[in-house]
Amino acid sequence: MKEVMTVRGPVDASKLGIILPHEHLLFDLFRVFQPQREFKVIDADLAASELQLYVDAGGSTIVEVTTIDMARDHKSMLAISEKTGAHIIMSTGWYREPFYSPDMWHRTTKELTKQLVDEINFGIDGIRPGIIGEIGTHHGYVSPVEEKVHRAAARAHLETGLAITLHSNATNVGLAQLDVLEEEGVDLSKVVVGHCDTYPKLDYHLALLDRGAWVEFDTIRGSFEYETNMQIKLITDLISRGFLSRILLSQDLGSSRLLTAYGGNGFAYLVTTFRQRLIEAGLSNEQIVTLIQDNPRRMLVGD
Ligand SMILES: [Zn+2]
Repeated sequence: MKEVMTVRGPVDASKLGIILPHEHLLFDLFRVFQPQREFKVIDADLAASELQLYVDAGGSTIVEVTTIDMARDHKSMLAISEKTGAHIIMSTGWYREPFYSPDMWHRTTKELTKQLVDEINFGIDGIRPGIIGEIGTHHGYVSPVEEKVHRAAARAHLETGLAITLHSNATNVGLAQLDVLEEEGVDLSKVVVGHCDTYPKLDYHLALLDRGAWVEFDTIRGSFEYETNMQIKLITDLISRGFLSRILLSQDLGSSRLLTAYGGNGFAYLVTTFRQRLIEAGLSNEQIVTLIQDNPRRMLVGD
């Protein structure tokens, strides 16, 4: 069995258990999203106690897709992993244009690629990333500087083999992002198109699957009943068309109000309440294990 890089070092992929493939523990989007203070969680003790609820509910691994420009905190991630026992897979990359530092406009693709590859190979203070992303766009198109970041992500993927995970919000922009990665020679079966439930159109999801990419429904938080019903329909529609093995599910808790401390459903929602909703919708336990354990493991090892 292949190994996956976590903040505590390589872990045999068969030991990862249940995996949430698109999460944030510690992040700071506040400097861009002002005045929405909720887009900032920098308290490692709070993040650890929230993640503990997931571990207590049977979860064991999260993919932490907070990028360099979202204030990724590698040392706290290591401390949280040691404290909770959860496997945490750290990412590398840059998010989307408003978050980039000014130097991103004049650095070359080659320089950005080197930074990613160096981080992946040598780590930061010895802590090594296990995925590239979330690589995003701000609008419904890929801007020139975002295109450069996508190309650097593609080249780093080709050198290191790490999967790429995309931020593709509320439009069909995932297709344009795949175009850039494909031009660079990326096998799109190694690419996750995130936030597909924010553009809940079957034609879009089928087009992504047709290109070979993973379709990720990752805003599963139980905040609104209509949203939960929509997500269940998206999942069951794709399963009925034979795509059970190409779907990923996660929660993307990128706001403090989604944590239990602030009244949200927290990290355990998907593996408890939402899991029960999937059973009520007719999914078998075996199908659910495929969705929350086997698929994200296969994504991480590049099967
Ligand atoms: Zn995102």
